[in-house]
Amino acid sequence: MKNENVLKIAIQKSGRLSDDSIHLLKECGIDLRNVKDRLRTVSENFPIEVFFLRDDDIPEYVEDGVADLGIVGQNVLAEKNRNIETVEALGFGKCRLSIALPKAVKYEGAKSLEGKRIATSYPGIVGAYLKKNNIKATVHEISGSVEIAPGIGLSDVIVDLVSSGGTLFMNGLQEAEVILDSQAVLVSNKNLTATQKETLDKLLFRIRAVKKAKKSKYVLMNAPNDKLQEIISLLPGMKSPSVLPLAESGWSSVHSVLSEDEFWDNIEKLKAAGAEGILVVPIEKMIL
Ligand code: ATP
Ligand code: ZN
Repeated sequence: MKNENVLKIAIQKSGRLSDDSIHLLKECGIDLRNVKDRLRTVSENFPIEVFFLRDDDIPEYVEDGVADLGIVGQNVLAEKNRNIETVEALGFGKCRLSIALPKAVKYEGAKSLEGKRIATSYPGIVGAYLKKNNIKATVHEISGSVEIAPGIGLSDVIVDLVSSGGTLFMNGLQEAEVILDSQAVLVSNKNLTATQKETLDKLLFRIRAVKKAKKSKYVLMNAPNDKLQEIISLLPGMKSPSVLPLAESGWSSVHSVLSEDEFWDNIEKLKAAGAEGILVVPIEKMIL
């Protein structure tokens, strides 16, 4: 494959986004070997080369064209503020960037930060937040373990990533305000060649099929024929559900696709309507 036609994608080498990023590419049917302890690897069945980097460096590499694509958290994107394109939200690496302060301290909105010392790994985002709210505060940039800063007297407040809130709680802190909701996104350099754009479109098509499938379940059930109409009316499906006769007369097998959001509600209604032997099967890919 000619080199300039290969799309170079930068993903996190080791950390919270690594496994999900590799998993997503594999689910898209992209063969990747030796993904551990490597700097880069070329796929043998898709024109893509994977670079393994620190997440903080990914926006810069994508802007400079060292990589054509990247997978990175929106938090890092917002902090680095590079001139690159966000192509698709990927649904993993979900977290939020929040203001947190000692439990005993009352928080009354941004004005509670006036004159305070704020420890964070996100000085860019915090600076912009303070400016927007017209607040003067001192920002201390620290690169890790931000949550211990108030305990050791380094700061009054922190702005840090939170997912469950457990780390804050263990350090005697309360989450006071969410500044940014974040998840992993696919980003792209703004000057892809026509061939690279075609490859990106192919990749996106696959990513969307994988995402769509994750949100849906394939459902099979047996239904007495006199209840079929009611059961079918409960099934949205992609088009209309498939109905196949069972060997036992008076019964049919009904197949459909249900979205995860309405899943439990629908299953209960189906049972109430007379459906039996309901099987729920994950869907690997879904092309609409
Ligand atoms: P690197 O060595 O690549 O710089 P890191 O220590 O900066 O790694 P990780 O802790 O692995 O980064 O987090 C990578 C990304 O995962 C974060 O930038 C964020 O987008 C996402 N993330 C999801 N949940 C959390 C969480 N609870 N805490 C921190 N990051 C999270
Ligand atoms: Zn990092």
